[in-house]
Amino acid sequence: MELTTCKNQDVRKRVYEAIEKAKRLQPILNAVVSFAQDIEEQLAHLEQIDTSAPLYGIPVVLKDNVNTKGLLTSASSRILSNYIPVYDACIVEKLKAAGAIIIAKSSMDELGMGGTNLSAYTGPVHNPYDTSRISGGSSGGSAVLTAADVTPLAIGTDTGDSVRKPAAYNGVVGMKPTYGRISRYGIIPYASSLDHVGYFTTSVADAALALHVLAGRDDRDMTSSTKEVPAYEQLLNSDIKGKRIAIIDNVQKAIKDESIRTGFDQLMMRLKQRGAIVESITLNEQLLAVILPTYYIIANAEATANHSNLDGIRFGVREDGNSVEDVMSHSRTAGFSANIRKRFVVGSYSLFVENQDKLFRKAQKVRRLLVEELARVLDQYDITIASAAGSIAPHPQDSVDEQLSDTYLIAENHMILGNFSGYPSISVPCGFVEGMPVGVNLMAKPFAEQTLFDIALAIEEESGLRGQVAEVTK
Ligand code: GLN
Repeated sequence: MELTTCKNQDVRKRVYEAIEKAKRLQPILNAVVSFAQDIEEQLAHLEQIDTSAPLYGIPVVLKDNVNTKGLLTSASSRILSNYIPVYDACIVEKLKAAGAIIIAKSSMDELGMGGTNLSAYTGPVHNPYDTSRISGGSSGGSAVLTAADVTPLAIGTDTGDSVRKPAAYNGVVGMKPTYGRISRYGIIPYASSLDHVGYFTTSVADAALALHVLAGRDDRDMTSSTKEVPAYEQLLNSDIKGKRIAIIDNVQKAIKDESIRTGFDQLMMRLKQRGAIVESITLNEQLLAVILPTYYIIANAEATANHSNLDGIRFGVREDGNSVEDVMSHSRTAGFSANIRKRFVVGSYSLFVENQDKLFRKAQKVRRLLVEELARVLDQYDITIASAAGSIAPHPQDSVDEQLSDTYLIAENHMILGNFSGYPSISVPCGFVEGMPVGVNLMAKPFAEQTLFDIALAIEEESGLRGQVAEVTK
């Protein structure tokens, strides 16, 4: 369902239909953590809003790391399973001011740290195209609820690829704008230098409209940009004649699945036929192969610092103990899964004074080199393009969050370049392999979101997948 189609129905009806659908699908998809309890108040609030507001009466879902006043915000971690925020995140204020109705909070990988959505304390999220497969993560619940046609817009966050990878696995559009484009005030952080707000829609036009609503300076987030926000949706133009597109050849070569590669090549042919200049480029392979380890050091170090307040005293479910230290350590041991504790160990280790030079600072230098490598390409081209994932959504037993094989390192981690650099990046559906959706990922220069939307729209026209949703059969 697209925002525009959604608008043709009666508000109350569509809001309650979305809630009913989410509830009916919950035993099958397990994508929701909690349902909003204040729907009537939200509907009453609409009386103060102009009916022409861009999201007037549109049901929307938020990832469970977005603070919502009075509504559980657990970030899918047991330690926050009692956390009821006393304020709304900036984007919640913006969504409500635009007329949106928040219907539910969606499941995610615990604290955003994962790519499978198998780690939420409420259990795994299932892919609507094949429920035996993963949704991907960490914004899996939001991706699935958009793909299953529950809401036309769902909010996610993206620290490594957590919007763009699940978007590809679930056949929806996943957008991560430039660092600072959308305020992060009121979002539970993961790694502050990499965290972005992103979102899912079923069409590029909706993605453009959503950014217009969500973007803009917010004094409560000092990283948010003062740059003016264009009316992206009104400026959309899929004429890509003369646009310069760089295929990241290392990524395509590393992909084992032949159908994904050939589908991608066919799409590139069609972009050429539309008059785009499509060329293959090669990034420094040695650098690409260390994206994941570099990311792990930086992301886990920042996460360790950000989550030091989840101790059962300042925040989090409190466990008993004979001293403050005991309370903290018991609360943290009971509150986090083993994977999170492992990541905190990695994070702390790289921050030890004796390790800082060889790990943390070195990772920062490698990050800089990688960003320069991407910037070099984007000096010559409007966008980079590559398959958003090297495979279709895997089964849980075949899914991994970390693997050190060369193909995995390059085929599955290149989208982290968008977080290292802060450059905007979008995943768009481009076809199906074995009945499962696959997508492509685009990156552009800072604040060149319009370029991304325009080329993504051309891709959507070629694939014919605008507004695509899944029919959940079992
Ligand atoms: N899979 C990556 C991680 O585990 C990305 C997560 C994200 O973007 N939030 O850290």
